Amino acid sequence: MKKFNPALAISSVQELSLERGVNPSINDSATFTFPFGQTMTDTFHGETEGYFLYSRHWNPSAFALCKSLAAMEGTEAAWVTGSGMAAITCALLQCVQKGDHIVASMTVYGGTFAFLSNYIERFGVEVTFVDTTNLQMVKDACRPNTKVIYTETMSNPLLRISNIAELRKIADHAGAKLIVDNTFSPMIFSPYKLGAHIVVYSMTKFINGKNDCVAGAICADADFINSLINVNNGTAMLLGPVLDSFRATSILKNLYTLHIRMQQHSKNAMFLAEKFQKLGMKVTYTGLPSHIDHKLMKEQMNDQFGFGGMIAIDLGTAEKANKFMEAMQNKGIGFLAVSLGYFRTLFSCSGKSTSSEVPEEYQKEMGMSEGLVRFSVGLDSDIENTYDIIHAILKEQNII
Ligand code: PLP
Repeated sequence: MKKFNPALAISSVQELSLERGVNPSINDSATFTFPFGQTMTDTFHGETEGYFLYSRHWNPSAFALCKSLAAMEGTEAAWVTGSGMAAITCALLQCVQKGDHIVASMTVYGGTFAFLSNYIERFGVEVTFVDTTNLQMVKDACRPNTKVIYTETMSNPLLRISNIAELRKIADHAGAKLIVDNTFSPMIFSPYKLGAHIVVYSMTKFINGKNDCVAGAICADADFINSLINVNNGTAMLLGPVLDSFRATSILKNLYTLHIRMQQHSKNAMFLAEKFQKLGMKVTYTGLPSHIDHKLMKEQMNDQFGFGGMIAIDLGTAEKANKFMEAMQNKGIGFLAVSLGYFRTLFSCSGKSTSSEVPEEYQKEMGMSEGLVRFSVGLDSDIENTYDIIHAILKEQNII
């Protein structure tokens, strides 16, 4: 079977501005006029095409970005939000009601974990956390009232890979929706094509790639997207976490270079991972045959974009990790900062930062050491030189 090419799919969408500018215009209107009263009524009921009602519902600039995102995922539609968390929480809340149950991966991003473990219970929704790479565990956790199975294609920070096709079978059997966060691996994986019902993103990361804003996206069938923005009961319409039109337009331009950026992030990450492995370090990278999910990753991934820009090395203790990261920052390798997908390399100690909301017992269960340093490898044009500097720091600090 010919593999899907998300880059090609995006390039087939070309939106011009009204004046035939090569980029779509920024439409900074909150409200829109109608030629006839009846058109306004019909638009309220979702029965018109080409008309916009109000920017909390649809905005032409957001709509242009959504068309390209839907093309990238191979979905009928998409909707963009003011943050990744807004995309995740809206998608989840749209799928559940009081009395329902969610089966979620215990390795999800810390904010998602906090929402599922501390927040959603106030709406009478129960959550069971499992290791979603253990399919039997997922099956066993499903109940008659399970409405969602939630996972990340590539988990943080140990980069475990979800078997999307198998999870879909379990979801279908349970009568649940499979929601997949693909933030770590846009283009590399096409979760909807693999079987997910709904794909969510923090566009703050690789998709935008500039660290100049937070933003999110939900990609799914038109029915689901329309239900999200239903004026009477749509979660997105009623909670209102919209993405501003200026941001939507700037993210759209960055989306068109995503494939090249992913290739370079992957190339640099592979280079460093192989070097670290040669040094005998404990390194986690899905491109290495030693990674537990390397084979599964190869089966599911699209061609051309590599294994992604995320790697992790284990230095044993948080103290060693901090000292190492401080030296890397001082020597100009990148920044000691959370987040990922930036053009400069970012590093953080996962257990003490982005996964700190995940209880220590879960961190232990997933095999996460407190000295784990996560790298989001940047777009360096001289990765050999970057490595030489890191190598010198490792020696200086007696790590190797
Ligand atoms: N999903 C993943 C995998 C993340 O890493 C993050 C943020 O770090 C989010 C979602 C949340 O996104 P945002 O910060 O844009 O709300």
